[in-house]
Amino acid sequence: IFANVEMAPRDPILGLTEAFKDDTRAEKVNLGVGVYQDDNGKIPLLECVKAAEKARVEAGLPRGYQPIEGAAAYNAAVQNLLFGDDAELVKSGRVITFETLGGTGALKVGGDYLRRLYPEAKLYISDPSWENHRAVFENAGFTVETYAYYDPATRGANFPAMKAALEALPAHSVVVLHACCHNPTGADISESQWGEVVEACRKNDLIPFLDIAYQGFADGPEQDTAAVRMFADSGMQFLVASSFSKNFSLYGERVGALSIVTENKEEAARVLSQVKRVIRTNYSNPPTHGGAVVTAVLNSPELRKQWEGELAAMRQRILDMRHSLVDKLKAAGVEQDFSFITEQRGMFSYTGLTPEHVERMRDEFGIYAVKSGRICLAALNSRNVDYVAKAIATVVSK
Ligand code: PMP
Repeated sequence: IFANVEMAPRDPILGLTEAFKDDTRAEKVNLGVGVYQDDNGKIPLLECVKAAEKARVEAGLPRGYQPIEGAAAYNAAVQNLLFGDDAELVKSGRVITFETLGGTGALKVGGDYLRRLYPEAKLYISDPSWENHRAVFENAGFTVETYAYYDPATRGANFPAMKAALEALPAHSVVVLHACCHNPTGADISESQWGEVVEACRKNDLIPFLDIAYQGFADGPEQDTAAVRMFADSGMQFLVASSFSKNFSLYGERVGALSIVTENKEEAARVLSQVKRVIRTNYSNPPTHGGAVVTAVLNSPELRKQWEGELAAMRQRILDMRHSLVDKLKAAGVEQDFSFITEQRGMFSYTGLTPEHVERMRDEFGIYAVKSGRICLAALNSRNVDYVAKAIATVVSK
């Protein structure tokens, strides 16, 4: 059966992790990862999660199937977090939400559905984008192309180019937009620029698909929904893939959601019925545990407050590491201005380090990063930041 199977290409980031594991140097650092680590280099188990899990285990609940779209309480909590307490579009029944297997699952379910709905449409992701975007949407059957986004000269977004690209897209093109904390670059656009993106999408009849995988890692869970809420206020129809992997540190539990904003309640019911078919014929219904934990935290005033505090601590630690790295590079005599690292948001930075720099960091220092020069700031801590700064200073200066 399998005699002619060829080896698939290795996932570049997972490949990096394997190479890192095999490295025997004690001082090694893996900046290629996409997870938040605390100052001890560990993935935290949040206290609010621990408390909700304890209560859940003690309740000894049966493990029946969930509805195809997931638990109603979870979906309502997601809508509340994305659109706010009193959102008109929630109250009027225009939004439907599906509990999915992480943010990736939300992108795939949404992609599968849109592909059925608009089989001729092309899908556009930012240049560059999270490396799995292209693969997920190609796997859903889309031809995936890019729109201009990043400017290596400023290490920020090239908004005029982005806007021009969006304005040139044919009607019903699907546009995947990072709602905050752009991965991999860390470069976000401003709120007023989001206003122009909304306008370009409306004018051209585009299908916006917002991806918000780092809600709470830029300015806070509420503030980071600015782009989502601008689309909500525009009255347009759009999709949102959201994830609790990062902001609840629940990576392996696979907790995410797909929300679809429709024209009205009646349309929402029709779309709901169709997306349920997509899910039913894929994984049937979502798992229980992670979503139940998130719901318990978000619906309890005390646990929610605790979550917001723990999330703020993660956000602040990353920001501290951004400043610390920049300060240490300066102190090491690096002439190049790295202050853009403190402007970029979320977990990542496109550092501008070349593939040669990245290779030398690995060979000479045991520091692993993606070839593109993307580093994960959340992998830095008070013990390794000096070492990483020294390594970067060495490779960029000679
Ligand atoms: N979108 C982006 C931009 C991401 O960075 C990630 C996670 N790395 C995801 C979606 C998927 O998140 P999840 O792990 O919840 O599937």
